[in-house]
Amino acid sequence: MPKPTDAGGLEVAPYRAALNRTIYLLDRDLAPVQKVRAFVKGRAILDQLDPSEVEDRARANTLTQLEGIGQSISAVVRGAYGHGPTSYLDQLEEATEIPLGLGAEIRAQLRGDCHSHSTWSDGGDDIEAMALAAKALGHDYLVATDHSARLTIAHGLSPERLGQQVAEIAELNRQLAPFQILTGMEVDILEDGRLDLPDDFLRLLDVVVASVHYKIHQNPTQMTKRLVRAVSNPNVDILGHCTNRKILSKPRKPSQFDAEVVFAACAKFNTAIEINCRPERQDPPDDLIGLALEWGCRFSIDSDAHAPGQLEWVNYGCDRAAAAGIPVEQIINTRSADDLIELCNADSP
Ligand SMILES: [Zn+2]
Ligand SMILES: [Zn+2]
Repeated sequence: MPKPTDAGGLEVAPYRAALNRTIYLLDRDLAPVQKVRAFVKGRAILDQLDPSEVEDRARANTLTQLEGIGQSISAVVRGAYGHGPTSYLDQLEEATEIPLGLGAEIRAQLRGDCHSHSTWSDGGDDIEAMALAAKALGHDYLVATDHSARLTIAHGLSPERLGQQVAEIAELNRQLAPFQILTGMEVDILEDGRLDLPDDFLRLLDVVVASVHYKIHQNPTQMTKRLVRAVSNPNVDILGHCTNRKILSKPRKPSQFDAEVVFAACAKFNTAIEINCRPERQDPPDDLIGLALEWGCRFSIDSDAHAPGQLEWVNYGCDRAAAAGIPVEQIINTRSADDLIELCNADSP
């Protein structure tokens, strides 16, 4: 049997490989944060032990005597050493699989993902883990788009921290080539349509996603002006989750704005409309995707992943794009990294 390895191909202890996979699948399933954290904490507890002790405890079924190790974690670890069934992980694999229907052809042509978060802001894992997961999904690149400073709750990046992140990305790119992490940011669109990072910084980034995260129910006239001002900024490449609707457990009404005007501006200023693939967002709604298509807008199918397992959500967006009849050429992340960077910088001053 091959030895278990992590996403980077390095050999890891069986308990760690099994727990890593469990965490990945729970994230893929948008499982409650507390549940994911329990597994992350359990993994950290076992990391403190000698791997032979973990195996001995798995054999003797005494893992749950350790504080912080519950039945589920114990079951996964025992299964990893062949001292119990692997049913917990097997069932999770099956139950969390992300379906792919109509969008299979588009999915096969996606080269990367333009919206992702890491522990630099409110993501659950570091950029390297995100990049390795993106690579494992067949992507050639991943754009790191952590939040900007205004979103303090998400530990948004100041210009100084953004500079540190860009340096880390350069170092990681040397290790991961030919895979590429592209620099970027999910910059907040302020109340009046200005952006939460000066143009001099935005200009230096490969890809810029601009999104609204507060005052989402501003009056429609103000919201229209706000979005038009943001998407007409030459440094903005993608308009993130444009309506901010939420459709799952805690639904949220979409923002109201004149979509004709906003999408006309996106088409004119070459700002792509994001098809945000998060299951609770699925933003924009179908009618607005159709309208953006009529205006000849470009699209970007983005996971907005906050953890490696969530990168798989692009399948949802591929299905929606195919159902709407969006031609592959209009989807910017079907382009190579070089072409994407060129496209994004074509209209930057
Ligand atoms: Zn966002
Ligand atoms: Zn985001």
